[in-house]
Amino acid sequence: TAERTKGFETNLWVEYAALAIESKAINLGQGFPDFSPPQFVIDALVESSKTTMLHQYTRGPGHPRLVKALAAMYSKLYGREINPMTEVVTAVGAYTSLYQSIQGHVNEGDEVILVEPFFDCYNPMVCMAGGKPVFVPLRPSASADKGEGRYPLTSSGWALDMDELKSAFSPKTKAIIINNPNNPTGKVFTRSELGAIAELCISNDVICISDEVYEWLIYPGKEHVRIATLPGMWERTITVGSAGKTFSATGWKLGWSVGPAPLIKNMMTINSNTAYTNPTPIQEAVAIGIETEMARLGEEGSYFKELPSLLLKKRDRMIQVLKEVGLTPIVPEGGYFLLADTANLGIKFDESTGSEPYDVQFAKWMTKEKRIAAIPPSYFFSPEHRYISDGLIRFCFCKEDSTLEAAYDAFRKWA
Ligand code: PMP
Ligand code: GLN
Repeated sequence: TAERTKGFETNLWVEYAALAIESKAINLGQGFPDFSPPQFVIDALVESSKTTMLHQYTRGPGHPRLVKALAAMYSKLYGREINPMTEVVTAVGAYTSLYQSIQGHVNEGDEVILVEPFFDCYNPMVCMAGGKPVFVPLRPSASADKGEGRYPLTSSGWALDMDELKSAFSPKTKAIIINNPNNPTGKVFTRSELGAIAELCISNDVICISDEVYEWLIYPGKEHVRIATLPGMWERTITVGSAGKTFSATGWKLGWSVGPAPLIKNMMTINSNTAYTNPTPIQEAVAIGIETEMARLGEEGSYFKELPSLLLKKRDRMIQVLKEVGLTPIVPEGGYFLLADTANLGIKFDESTGSEPYDVQFAKWMTKEKRIAAIPPSYFFSPEHRYISDGLIRFCFCKEDSTLEAAYDAFRKWA
């Protein structure tokens, strides 16, 4: 066994996906839709499968049609010309894009700042590259409206303490990883928050890896600001996206990164020596999906508008029901997860030293006994900051209304 694997043997998703299945629970845990991707991308995949050469290897760092579609999309969104051949690289899901960005830049002993709550794989990926993670949490801000509860009413109430972030930078800092919109809080970082992060990246000469897989899932009143578009940031930012999240097709496992050629080049080196090339028919179908959406960007009936409006209804319904049954939800501004405080339910678990965090015990109990699967958010924090999410639980709302209503009926029976 290689040393680098030690401590990372168990995995949140493996464990909780199995628990949900074993318990025959209604699954509001792992983030994947149980509805179909839009018909035009399914048709694109069917069509791609009819072309002989699309069953063979394609260009290593990205299928030409896809990197061209991505470069055209981000050129428009960033207001700068992006080169499809040198400034875009594809991967097996955003997971592998993150892997390429970390492996391609982190040396033994480098420090990498992880803003918590983080997507759980950032920590092992940094450690496996020989880096040292430095954790800086979002905390419920003192000035946020908390209503009657312990946590802010909306995800905008999660904030970085900028002095704490500033003091996390050192001469050894190589990179910072942010996730915007954030999983699991649903926070959408404001322009001024991103500006403050950008300033620290620039003054400390640090790379920013911005995981923006939920870039199209923004709810009314918020704007998705891409940190790469802030002054001085293009040169030092790698932005990660996911076809799985963009087109509700998580099984397609196709990710991409966009950034300046000198950084993307390092990621291409990792790609050509790990996967070498990524699935051709999937890349062709995603290219068609992106081309279709770009031709109708901002229009009613486009998927990039339709999906967030569908999810907004599901979000609001879930909030209403959770409140009705005694949970205290934090309204997310983006993404398809929400956190809710379980404190008012008054359910007691083992509190002795060495026992599992409350949210872990709660999630396991609810999945096994109440047959509703959810995710304990403390996995998205380092051990020293797990207390911040004490009593919170993460629900996924990108599910069919019938799935959600079945869960709501189950809640009403016990909560
Ligand atoms: N980053 C975040 C924040 C995620 O929630 C996920 C899960 N989809 C990923 C990365 C990985 O995405 P993919 O499924 O495309 O590998
Ligand atoms: N990103 C999804 C989530 O947060 C799925 C993660 C996974 O399956 N590894 O639920």
